[in-house]
Amino acid sequence: MMKALIKEFEKVVGKDNVFQDETDRATYSYDAAVLEPVLPALVLRPTSSEALGRVVALCNEHGLPLTVRGAGTNLSGGTIPKTGGVVVLTNALNRIIEINEGDLYAVVEPGVVTAKFAAAVEAKGLFYPPDPGSQAVSTLGGNVAENAGGLRGLRYGVTRDYVMGLEFFDVNGDLVKAGARTVKCVTGYNLGGLLVGSEGTLGVFDKITLKLIPMPPAKKAMMAIFSDMNKASETVSAIIAHRIVPVTLEFMDNFTIRAVEDFSHAGLPVDAAALLLIEVDGHPVQVEEDAEKVEALCRQMGAMSVRVAQDAAERDKVWEARRAALSALSRVKPTTVLEDATVPRSKIPAMIRSIEDIAREYQLTIGTFGHAGDGNLHPTILTDKRNKDEWHRVESAIDAIFDKALSLGGTLSGEHGIGLAKSRYLEKETSRGTMLYSRRIKAALDPKGILNPGKIIGE
Ligand SMILES: Cc1cc2nc3c(=O)[nH]c(=O)nc-3n(C[C@H](O)[C@H](O)[C@H](O)COP(=O)(O)OP(=O)(O)OC[C@H]3O[C@@H](n4cnc5c(N)ncnc54)[C@H](O)[C@@H]3O)c2cc1C
Repeated sequence: MMKALIKEFEKVVGKDNVFQDETDRATYSYDAAVLEPVLPALVLRPTSSEALGRVVALCNEHGLPLTVRGAGTNLSGGTIPKTGGVVVLTNALNRIIEINEGDLYAVVEPGVVTAKFAAAVEAKGLFYPPDPGSQAVSTLGGNVAENAGGLRGLRYGVTRDYVMGLEFFDVNGDLVKAGARTVKCVTGYNLGGLLVGSEGTLGVFDKITLKLIPMPPAKKAMMAIFSDMNKASETVSAIIAHRIVPVTLEFMDNFTIRAVEDFSHAGLPVDAAALLLIEVDGHPVQVEEDAEKVEALCRQMGAMSVRVAQDAAERDKVWEARRAALSALSRVKPTTVLEDATVPRSKIPAMIRSIEDIAREYQLTIGTFGHAGDGNLHPTILTDKRNKDEWHRVESAIDAIFDKALSLGGTLSGEHGIGLAKSRYLEKETSRGTMLYSRRIKAALDPKGILNPGKIIGE
């Protein structure tokens, strides 16, 4: 990279925030997806809004590909830079600017860690529901750019449902303001709607206004244990069909249960064929009523037993174990491929059966867990990428999983985004017209194609 340009970047972000060493650059060459790393030419760490905007403008002036990076936990290759490009870190832009208890919103910088924000909000008796499994490290900017979901998506929705406003830099470094701090706002185009889930390809978030809600006064969690996987998956559909919407309705197959128990010693029943982890919340009377209904339904559907958490500590232990599922599975083999195929909820039993069939057909180990209540499963293939023959079968199995999900009326990604990993499948789910329309939007807003090139719609 031209020395003069590096000097320019040093002036903007400070010498200490320009990283050129190969070791530093290697740190930002990959993310949580199983894809080849790409070394960026330079890593920059702006510490102010002004510096962030100036960095974007400079990259555009010089035609330098720019990939913004929060915590790098995305599972779709969203932060793998382009060769010769720049990685821009947001971890110094980490202020919670305001938590407004009267109007129920908060304004944050993009590098704020999700769990820190949720805790700060909770300390004021308020609630920010989106809780990706990675929340201990993921950033709110990354959550918005991926439209992240989490365990509470079934009742409370996903990140998109909490974004009231966004301030972002366009490719020229001009600040664009979308949305407002009001409950209702129909002023201008819904630019926030376009930017949420845009994976860093259309603009760079500078400030995010998030909706807060009152903390539900009561909650109750339970674990339903099944000796038959089909019965567990049919119970998911039955709960929804009975018009009960728990906060959380998670599924774990036997392989995942054993891996998690080995990892977290939470007291999970390792002989169960499958588990459902369920939580209901709301007014105490309603919670009691819903919990009783769910428990009765689980038994009716064939659960061997239903354990109701007796206190908050027992409840938290179960959820911590569930959040550890991916980490636990990833200890089993060198390579972990976590998929995100999502189907209409009534199709969960069919999807789970198909994943089992696919594992058998391609002779692979697949642990399945996930947010079954919203149709979002995480079939997790445990493999070793160095084994060429097995890797070839993994690729075929991934194709088969996507084909099955689409044939059941589902979608490629419920929450992990498309990134690089799934861009080649996008047209299969949508249409040629969708691809052309999306590419026209990208070309109009980023004519040189410098904003996170290759993600979502390819190049
Ligand atoms: C163990 C584990 C569990 C997970 N569980 C869940 C889960 O339950 N639900 C879920 O949805 N996901 C989950 N994920 C995936 C991942 O954590 C989410 O996608 C998360 O939102 C990424 O946040 P991040 O800060 O790591 O973003 P990064 O990975 O750094 O970036 C993600 C995308 O956001 C863009 N981006 C980041 N900051 C900005 C910004 N300021 N402006 C514009 N674009 C920006 C990046 O360019 C990239 O395209 C999990 C991942 C792991 C490893």
